[in-house]
Amino acid sequence: MISKRVNSLSESESIAMAKRARDLTAQGFDIVSLSMGEPDFPTPDHIKEAAKAALDANKTHYPPVAGIPELREAVCYKLKRDNQLVYKPENIVVSTGAKHSLMNTILSLIDPGDEVIIPTPYWVSYKEIVKFAEGVPVLVEGKIENNYKITPSQLEQAITPKTKILLFSNPCNPTGSFYTESELKEWAKVLEKYPRIFICSDEIYEYINFTGAHFSIAQIPSMFERTIVINGVSKGYAMTGWRIGYIAAQKEIAVACEKLQGQFTSGANSIAQYAAVAALGDNLEPSKMMNKKFQERRDLALTLSAQIPGFKTTVPDGAYYLFPDVSAYFGKKTESGEVIQSDYDLVIYLLNTGHVATVQGSAFGEKNCLRLSFATSNENLIEAFVRMKNALSKLK
Ligand code: PLP
Repeated sequence: MISKRVNSLSESESIAMAKRARDLTAQGFDIVSLSMGEPDFPTPDHIKEAAKAALDANKTHYPPVAGIPELREAVCYKLKRDNQLVYKPENIVVSTGAKHSLMNTILSLIDPGDEVIIPTPYWVSYKEIVKFAEGVPVLVEGKIENNYKITPSQLEQAITPKTKILLFSNPCNPTGSFYTESELKEWAKVLEKYPRIFICSDEIYEYINFTGAHFSIAQIPSMFERTIVINGVSKGYAMTGWRIGYIAAQKEIAVACEKLQGQFTSGANSIAQYAAVAALGDNLEPSKMMNKKFQERRDLALTLSAQIPGFKTTVPDGAYYLFPDVSAYFGKKTESGEVIQSDYDLVIYLLNTGHVATVQGSAFGEKNCLRLSFATSNENLIEAFVRMKNALSKLK
């Protein structure tokens, strides 16, 4: 009954794992979750106030499909202030979260058979969105020795006459790796040789960056025209539930995304758009405070992780995930004699025995790892690591 298109789509593994943890909690189990992909902070007050004011002013009608003018202007202002990127409102399309912005972009650019280069580990939805558009994901392996980043020569080797897009997140979910200005300039030298390739630069974790400076590949003059910057308010302003994302792109792409969105959603929630205008203004103190907290938690998580034998991890420069290689536990037996054969087996074991929710690395294209979110309190982090250490010590 259900279409082949939908049947061929995988369920988001991180959402599935969060749901499993919630179900167990509802059954009365005391689960500590390290599976979530969202800040645990509330949305800052000045943003909530803007939403309340919009409600009181009856901003409750259909907004323009590509976003209210105030928000498209605010996005231009933010991109100029933070990234020195000059766009006009006609280059901006506001959507229902960065995930929707990404779907619009891929559907607007990809014809069946077009290839999309995706460095691994990648964010769960990239591969599925490309497949949904009947494109071909071309995975390029980022290795732990190189902080899970791909090199310019790996990038060049993956390019074929069918390559249409290079798609990546910076900082990266799930590894927290961050491609610096000089690394992106090395990529640009390769990409300059292939002018027909677009770059889809997902910068949703821009404000959760521990290196002190974000850099967008669109800031490289030769990359500007062909980069689609994907961003939004979910992560940097603790606004995941408001569902506001946006693209900044050349006009033809923006127009295509607007057309698509006009048929699918008629635009993003109007009240949330007014809230996003306030978010993108100059009061960045709450975002800075959250970034500082995430950095402290990153450091705590690294210390705790180092105490677990067999966990091999890189130091995340951004986002809020630790991505340890846990392959040392594969092949070991549980007390009841079951063999841990994969990352998934280990996730289920940690959930059922340790009561800690994590996500298997294979959901992100790296089967030797687990993703542990440190977007939670210090107490939760300490408790989760104690439980994991105990559970893992029982594997023989
Ligand atoms: N891009 C990456 C890399 C993400 O991790 C996420 C959310 O987890 C998104 C995009 C989606 O963001 P939004 O909640 O704005 O749809």
